[in-house]
Amino acid sequence: MDLSAGDCDRGRGVVLNSRVRIEVPAGSGFGRTHLPYGVFRPMGEQPRVGVRLGDSVIDLAVALDDPMFAQPSLNAFMTQGPQCWREVRERVTVAADAELPAAAVHPIHAVSLDLPIEIGDYVDFYASLDHATALGRMLRPNGDALLPNWRHLPVGYHGRSGTVVVSGTEIARPSGQRKTDSDTPDFGPSRRLDIEAELGFVVGAGSPLGTPLGTGDFDAHVFGVALVDDWSARDIQAWEGQPLGPFLGKSFATSLSAWVTPLDALAKARIPLPPQDPEPLPYLRDTDPWGLDIELTVAWNGQVVSTPPYRRMYWSPAQMLAHMTVNGASTRTGDLFASGTVSGPERAERGSLMEITWAGTDPVTVNGVQRTFLQDGDEVVITASAPALDGTRLTLGEVRGTVKPA
Ligand code: CA
Repeated sequence: MDLSAGDCDRGRGVVLNSRVRIEVPAGSGFGRTHLPYGVFRPMGEQPRVGVRLGDSVIDLAVALDDPMFAQPSLNAFMTQGPQCWREVRERVTVAADAELPAAAVHPIHAVSLDLPIEIGDYVDFYASLDHATALGRMLRPNGDALLPNWRHLPVGYHGRSGTVVVSGTEIARPSGQRKTDSDTPDFGPSRRLDIEAELGFVVGAGSPLGTPLGTGDFDAHVFGVALVDDWSARDIQAWEGQPLGPFLGKSFATSLSAWVTPLDALAKARIPLPPQDPEPLPYLRDTDPWGLDIELTVAWNGQVVSTPPYRRMYWSPAQMLAHMTVNGASTRTGDLFASGTVSGPERAERGSLMEITWAGTDPVTVNGVQRTFLQDGDEVVITASAPALDGTRLTLGEVRGTVKPA
């Protein structure tokens, strides 16, 4: 990286006596009211916590002169709790509008991005009515689309936190026992490798064993949101998942975006939750049930194949947290719980290839070619946007992955 004073690309700002004010390009989804957190690594240097503004990254350890941010994850910061999160966001907001020391500003293209959090436990829900209905119709064409429990609790399973990887990490096609048309499996690389476009929620402040959290406790414990791609090997999943559910068909990799958007940045994206029928049990009720108006986009080899609407999700993030802890299970800083596939009722709103291609029976045209599941070399990019505090739209950090051979 060229650090000479005349380098106008440095932070896309103007260097003034070694201080710089970051210019935000028009239409950027990373404006001054977004300010997502991540962990970045300038070339040859140690990872540390940064905030994205426009096409720049602000090094918080330098800009705020605080060693809490000279860390390889957000955990030390997140564990401080919501009052600290608010105070830091106020300081970052001031810094983002000020002239910063040039050493605190890095162009986004000159840094690498690490996994932003040290993941504790990872839970994946199944909170979309449209997704659960579509899967139910495929799996039980002659029965009820929804199983009897679905409208009573947010169904979920425990995933594998150690294989959560940062956006951009290549995904090796998994091998395993594959379902065939008979009662005997075969073994080999998955032939039905899929994506699931999801929203993830990051626990910042944990809760002790034996203390269930209510729906009203969400803001005191959840730090922010990030996009998730829950890679899924459908042929492995279909064989192994009877009767206990997802295991090796999911645990080979889950991609997380490099940027975590603080909850406060999404205040204008909060909308009423769609009606729930029947009324859930008291521990799942909320005085003011809220969802999120976030529009996801799935691009397959550069072609947009779907725009899943988060606003239609049946179970709210606060209900997921309440359900996850109702048995007294603790939560810890860095725990990640994801929404499950975000889907709408239309084909172009579905968040998995399983649904878009109806289990591979209805191919979709991608760049002029008929496609069903992922081939080696395919790239999937999930992006999302939401109303920002300043009336524009913010862009969540993307989650990107390319499939490499088994
Ligand atoms: Ca999932």
